[in-house]
Amino acid sequence: MASVVETYLHRIQSACTPMDAGTLADYIPQLAAVDPDRFGVSVVVHDGHVYSVGDSTIEFTIQSISKALTYALALRERGFDDVDAQIGVEPSGEAFNEISVDHRTRRPRNPMINAGAITATALLLQRPHDDEGTRDDSGTAVDEAFALILEFYSGCAGRHLTMDDEVYRSEMATGSRNRAIAYMLESFGVFPSDPEAAVDLYVRQCSVTVTSDDLAAIGSTLANGGVNPRTGRRMLDTAVTRRVLSVMTTCGMYDGAGDWVTTVGLPAKSGVGGGILAVLPGQLGIGVYSPRLDEHGNSVRGVEACRHLSDDLGLHMFNVARESRVTIRSTYDGHELDLGAGRSEVERAYLRAHRHRVRVLELQGDLTFSGAESVVRRVESLRPDADVILIDLTRVGVIDDVSRRFIVGLRATLLADDTEWVIVDPDGVVDAGARQTARSAAADAPVSSMAEAIERAEDILLKRAADRTA
Ligand code: GLU
Repeated sequence: MASVVETYLHRIQSACTPMDAGTLADYIPQLAAVDPDRFGVSVVVHDGHVYSVGDSTIEFTIQSISKALTYALALRERGFDDVDAQIGVEPSGEAFNEISVDHRTRRPRNPMINAGAITATALLLQRPHDDEGTRDDSGTAVDEAFALILEFYSGCAGRHLTMDDEVYRSEMATGSRNRAIAYMLESFGVFPSDPEAAVDLYVRQCSVTVTSDDLAAIGSTLANGGVNPRTGRRMLDTAVTRRVLSVMTTCGMYDGAGDWVTTVGLPAKSGVGGGILAVLPGQLGIGVYSPRLDEHGNSVRGVEACRHLSDDLGLHMFNVARESRVTIRSTYDGHELDLGAGRSEVERAYLRAHRHRVRVLELQGDLTFSGAESVVRRVESLRPDADVILIDLTRVGVIDDVSRRFIVGLRATLLADDTEWVIVDPDGVVDAGARQTARSAAADAPVSSMAEAIERAEDILLKRAADRTA
């Protein structure tokens, strides 16, 4: 049976699939050759667990999403001072391939437009500590810098990534505009490398292929302060990660960035290949793939899917008004519980032998998507060894709507598997939702104390034993 989170993703997929507005990017001829109906949505949560639906393992070219990553790599390799001397951090409000710079400083306004991104690749081609300012523009330098880029992207994704040679060739053959940008920057006199070499490297990075699962994994690495939660490998330090997320927030979604921040509220970067990478700092990464684009160059279904994820799962980064990561305070089985009073000797003997079939989870804190997701997954893993799951919400402060729905949805998953639940909920935090869907409200309505819960769990065990012998 699909987990509660997967059920949500399927619902989002069904809501967005009928959207067939938008067009494929065709200024790079090879991009127009993809199947326009592909649609994949992936989420990687704080501990690296992957949820995905649809075409989440179909490869497409990363295109402009690479800008965020190479900017991060340039910061890591060259340091903030060198990078900031060449690339600004102000939103431009212009199209991604506008031939423009800040009039005063003559720097590209930010690393998410082509001028800034091509400067970031040029910085990777600049040999460090070269006082003469000598440039190494040989093919070897481009190969070496690209190997570093691929290694870095792969480390963030947690799998070996490669480049689509046809897309690369297709864009190299039609990339006059990017060459124009690079030569314009060079004409100002401080461009760090040969313009042709920088464009070559930039087009190679745009042609790296990823899946929506990869984008979500990369997003989770950024969410996790630069450490890939699946591999434990540190790819970036926290200062670089914070900088990249900041620039993604203000400049990541082409000239639609303001609308994006207000409605979706997640640092993100999209590409004309149809991908969107979004990040909820501290919590999760999202990857979406659907190649039809809107007038800004963002995936139509991708934007809609992210809107749904943000709204339905309460992921807007400014939602979090207080520290709200719920923790599973402890999990244990019924061996540690007192036997309830008032049982016969036979019942007590039976309960003593079967108490381990009751699994207890004590939660504390505020319950929002991330905490609820961990709880649901923990319960699902305990389910095969339990007749009764007892969840103690006594120490939970606030529970948001999505978490309430998750907890209620969990009940349906448990029942389908013939596992009962008992909820200790003295303040009624989950009460309303639970009542609505309860098969029999009286039998499994929340109780208000652990003593009552234990008694009910024991009743369930005894009833199951009686049913089996009947
Ligand atoms: N390779 C593309 C270009 O610079 C990337 C475009 C994009 O995804 O925005 O034209």
